[in-house]
Amino acid sequence: MLKEELLSKGYKAYENDEICVFWNPDLCQHAGECIKANSKVFDVSRRPWVDVSQAPGDEIASIIDRCPSEALRYELK
Ligand code: SF4
Repeated sequence: MLKEELLSKGYKAYENDEICVFWNPDLCQHAGECIKANSKVFDVSRRPWVDVSQAPGDEIASIIDRCPSEALRYELK
């Protein structure tokens, strides 16, 4: 399963009943594409910095598709 695989590779998980978002700080290039696209979902001044309740799952997924490093991954439910 994707979740177990990514957690074993150092990803953290943020999820609700629509989507599970995974983030790996070691891969993040800090390009900021995610924050520019939606600063409510992705806010580095907040802990946790990913809040999947701030947008529909399909919108979050389309933002993550633009992450250049694969630091962000997702699984829609
Ligand atoms: S788009 Fe990807 S690489 Fe860029 S800041 Fe966000 S998570 Fe990091």
